[in-house]
Amino acid sequence: MRFFSLRKKKYATLTVKDEVDENRMLEEDKKNTGITEEPSDLWEKCPECGEIVLKKDIGRNLYRCLNCGHYYRMSARERIDLLIDGGTFVEEDANLQTEDFLGFEGYKKKVEKAEGKTGINEAVVSGIGKIKGIEVSIAVMDFDFLGGSMGSVVGEKITRALERALEKRIPAIVVSSSGGARMYEGIVSLMQMAKTSAAVHRLKKAGIPYISIPVNPTTGGVTASFAMLGDVIITEPKALIGFAGQRVIEQTIKQKLPKGFQTSEFLLKHGMLDIITKREEMKDTVAKVLSNLV
Ligand SMILES: [Zn+2]
Repeated sequence: MRFFSLRKKKYATLTVKDEVDENRMLEEDKKNTGITEEPSDLWEKCPECGEIVLKKDIGRNLYRCLNCGHYYRMSARERIDLLIDGGTFVEEDANLQTEDFLGFEGYKKKVEKAEGKTGINEAVVSGIGKIKGIEVSIAVMDFDFLGGSMGSVVGEKITRALERALEKRIPAIVVSSSGGARMYEGIVSLMQMAKTSAAVHRLKKAGIPYISIPVNPTTGGVTASFAMLGDVIITEPKALIGFAGQRVIEQTIKQKLPKGFQTSEFLLKHGMLDIITKREEMKDTVAKVLSNLV
């Protein structure tokens, strides 16, 4: 019932009466089925092809649109499940808590809201695990936590993940997805760029491989630091990876940007990254690269 009423909304112009009827039908649905979520909690409209699908169906399909293959965002935990061998992941630094040290208005509330939404306490989850039997130190960012922004705790957790790789002499992997620095933490947030980059440098000096996997979207200070410093940089098709927004760049340089600018395909063509691989094949690709490096 609900499916068809939503379909109707997509293709037909509703009169006020239709809307009232539709709301009444939705209410009845809720009573009959016991499902209390709002439609937006259950359904997702593909931004690429417009198809409306059940969220749980996308989840079953690695968050790939069943109609056009568009990749939806994945949470940090889902990415870990995708990449790391079952039962081998041991989380580290889960106790690190964000402090509102600048007393930025509304920041604490935003963090609490993000915690409720994602079930994690910061925009990155890190630890040790195995990829097809190869032990790695991994950190995975979560865009749904305040836009994956890099505050002091995010920078610290990523730095510690890189340092663990150095200490244990195992490869480091960082999956990035971020809007950049976290403005609520001012200059301390910007400092994380230098801190994480210095940690990458120490790994390089020790000859320990670092694989960076920036996924859609990765922008700002994260692109300007560890995300583009990998020995090997791997991403998914059609991911947005860039520093500043396209409009800002166009206004600054007063020129039109080329088609496909800041997509993974454009970056690969211009030598900014090494491999584009389908999500379904990401683990195989990473394992293949790792087996050549260790
Ligand atoms: Zn689609």
